[in-house]
Amino acid sequence: MDQPETVRTPSSWVVVGLDNGGTCNNATVLDATGQFLVNNLVENPSRVLDGPESAVEALAEAFSNILELTSTPLSLVRAVGLDTPGPASAHGVISSKGATNFNQVSWHGFDIRGALEARLGLPVVYNNDGNAAALYAHHQHFGAAAPLNSSVAAIVGTGLGGGVVESGAVVRGVAGMAGELGHVQIPLHGVIEDDQPVPMCNCGFAGDVESIASLTGIKNNLLPYWLTRFPDHPLANEPLATAAKALRGYGEKEDAMALAVFGQQAKAIGKLFTIAANFTDPAAYFLGGGVVEAAPHFRQWFLNSVRESTDLRDEQKAVATFALVPDRDMAGARGAAVAALNTVTAA
Ligand SMILES: [Zn+2]
Repeated sequence: MDQPETVRTPSSWVVVGLDNGGTCNNATVLDATGQFLVNNLVENPSRVLDGPESAVEALAEAFSNILELTSTPLSLVRAVGLDTPGPASAHGVISSKGATNFNQVSWHGFDIRGALEARLGLPVVYNNDGNAAALYAHHQHFGAAAPLNSSVAAIVGTGLGGGVVESGAVVRGVAGMAGELGHVQIPLHGVIEDDQPVPMCNCGFAGDVESIASLTGIKNNLLPYWLTRFPDHPLANEPLATAAKALRGYGEKEDAMALAVFGQQAKAIGKLFTIAANFTDPAAYFLGGGVVEAAPHFRQWFLNSVRESTDLRDEQKAVATFALVPDRDMAGARGAAVAALNTVTAA
C-alpha cells in the first residue's frame, strides 16, 4: 500500500479517475477544488485479457480501493473518468475490429464506458489514453487558466498518441477520431535522408508521424535504414524489436546512430507541431511518453530539437511554450479525472 502521508481526505465532493491499461488499472481522486488526493501511483491488475466482465469488475475494485485509501465516502463521488487505449469511439465503445489490449472477440464493439456506468451507478466520462494525458498536461500547465487556453500534446510510445485541447476541453470530433496525431501525414523533406525509404505506418499511411516518431517506427522503418549506415553498431546483432527498445539508452550516451534516429523523430514531431501551429495555433506544445523518463540532458535535447523543428511565426514564438508532459504514469488517470470534473462543473 501507499505511504499515508501522500494521501489526503476530501473536504467536498470529488470525482474519481480510472486509467485502464494492458496489465494494470491506475486510480486517483480529484476534489472539487482541483486538488488530487493521491500523489502517487495506485495500481491494481486490470484483467483485460480475461475479457470484458472481469475487466469491468477489476475497474470497480480499483474504484472501491481508491475511495478506501483516501477515506472518501461513496456519497461524495459525483462522476468517474475512465480512459483506455484506443481505438474506441468518443463514448468508449471499443473498435469493432478490437484493439491491442482488447483482442478477445467479446471485446469487439464492447461499450466499456456504459458497462462501468451500469456497474457503479455513477456517470462515467470516457477518453482514450492519449486524450486523457493531453488533458492532464493542459490542466497541470495552465491551472486555473486552463479553460482560457489551448494546447496540443504528442505522446511517443509504441505508437504516437496525444490530443488537441481547445478552451480546456478535448477536441473529440464527430466519430471520436479528432487528435489522432500519429496518423497525420507530414512533409518528409528535411526529415528523412535522400536515400531513405518512405516510412510506412501500420495504419496503411506512408510518412505519417507515427511511422517515424514511435517505437514501432524505430523498429519497422528507422533502424532498418540507419543500421545500413552504421553496420558495425553493437545493435546490428540484435533482433530489431530488442534493438529498438535499447536505442534510448544509446541516445542518452550520445551514440551517433541513436541521435540520428531520435533526431528524425524530433523533426517529425516538429513538422506535426508546425501543422498544429497553422491549424489551432495552440498556447502550448506538450511532449510526452517514454522520453519523459530519459536522462534529463537527453530529454532536454529532444524537446529542444522538437522546438527547433517547429516553424512558428514570430508572433507565435513570443507567446507559445514547449513543455514535457509531467507524471507519465499517472497522466491517464489524472486526465480522466479532469475530464470528469469538467463535466460536473459544466452541468
Ligand atoms: Zn498511421
